[in-house]
Amino acid sequence: MTLPPLTRPTNAPTRTSATPTGLLPRRPQPRIAVVGGSLTGCTTALLLLHAGFDHVAIYEAAPDAMPRGGGLIGLEHPALDILDRLGIDQSEFVAYESETVWQVTVRARQPIHTTRQLYPGRNTTWTLLHTALTTRLPAGVLHTGRRVAALDVRNGQPVLTFGDGSREIADVVVFADGRASTGRRLLDPHRTLRYAGYTAHRGQTTTPDTPLRDFLRLEPSGCQYNVAPIPGGLDWTFYLTCSPTDYAHHFGAPPQRRTFALPHHVGPAAHAHVDEQAARLLPAPHAATVHATTIRMAAPVMDIDPPTRMAWPVGRGWAVLLGDALAPVRPHTARGANNGIEQAAGLTTALTQHHRHGADLPAALHAWQRRHLPTVVTAIQQGAAIVAHLGLGGTATSGRTPSGRAIPSTRAARREIR
Ligand SMILES: Cc1cc2nc3c(=O)[nH]c(=O)nc-3n(C[C@H](O)[C@H](O)[C@H](O)COP(=O)(O)OP(=O)(O)OC[C@H]3O[C@@H](n4cnc5c(N)ncnc54)[C@H](O)[C@@H]3O)c2cc1C
Repeated sequence: MTLPPLTRPTNAPTRTSATPTGLLPRRPQPRIAVVGGSLTGCTTALLLLHAGFDHVAIYEAAPDAMPRGGGLIGLEHPALDILDRLGIDQSEFVAYESETVWQVTVRARQPIHTTRQLYPGRNTTWTLLHTALTTRLPAGVLHTGRRVAALDVRNGQPVLTFGDGSREIADVVVFADGRASTGRRLLDPHRTLRYAGYTAHRGQTTTPDTPLRDFLRLEPSGCQYNVAPIPGGLDWTFYLTCSPTDYAHHFGAPPQRRTFALPHHVGPAAHAHVDEQAARLLPAPHAATVHATTIRMAAPVMDIDPPTRMAWPVGRGWAVLLGDALAPVRPHTARGANNGIEQAAGLTTALTQHHRHGADLPAALHAWQRRHLPTVVTAIQQGAAIVAHLGLGGTATSGRTPSGRAIPSTRAARREIR
């Protein structure tokens, strides 16, 4: 991929010249504002703090940092290694150490073919990981109830404006504000979300005596059902084709507006519909699990055009997009949280090399983009390919990704993704 070089803002300070000893003087600490306090935002802030940046603040729109409906998340070795380096013991956020994924083809509600694959990573949950991250944030870093509404330049300085009209100055703004990102709308407005025509219905049971220890994927035709153990029960995801009208009927708003349906958005019609589909498509024990689940959520599967950049000069400062703010990828790729964590580590490296060793910041950010963009682009393209054989959202016959690219063979995509 060839990227245009990132140009330095015209009035930005130039590289500090070397001192007589050949060492670069320590630069003033930049003010770094992280927008979004979920997995990507909290990981970014912790990595920056560990690297010695003192002025790091997270602005999170939600009124508190409590779980907001996240479920099972598979983290690959690079992301696990980054968390290791933050001193977070894996036992804190990995409750079951299994690497096994059972892939089961189902017809007429009966398993007809089973294969075992190994996932190069471990499963966690949003809640376990988010708790492990936020408990390590020093007091005063995470500011909840602060929704960023705008980013402007005043006297050459990036300034964030919040929903209540208050403002904060920053030198670097890291947008980690998720799939409906305000940062993406401001910095890269042409890349809007498109509904892929199917929805991930999720549930968490309270059945602590479950014998399941591995990740189990069932594939009846036209849908997919994943289930795995979590502390205190099971976490399941049931992917079903769903028209935008039905989505709005089930969850109270269209998919582009309700990019996550939290438990209180899941009405009786959604509940009944998922139960009916489970009874029609899944083997009886799994249909019973779905039926017995009271805590339910949903996420519409969204597509977006691949990003071509991750950093923008804003006055004398910079703004960047990370994680789902940069590009939400289809959940089947199991790459969203991995992408955010890996990008956060790369960004920390670029800012550290600039701050500590005087590296040219535009060049460092350009190299960071160059390393991370291909992974995101690949995940976007593979997302549609992985489910093409199921026909979810009507992709079975099109042979094209939402951007019109030919879908690579499912077998090839599966080789790379669990
Ligand atoms: C069914 C399903 C299964 C998945 N499985 C996996 C998996 O196995 N592996 C994997 O890597 N990924 C997986 N993912 C994807 C993963 O969950 C996401 O990519 C990840 O949680 C995104 O984290 P984030 O911090 O970038 O964004 P989010 O978690 O969306 O967080 C964004 C935060 O920003 C806040 N915010 C939003 N707007 C503003 C604003 N204007 N001002 C301030 N704050 C704001 C929000 O309140 C939120 O807290 C899955 C997703 C789904 C739906």
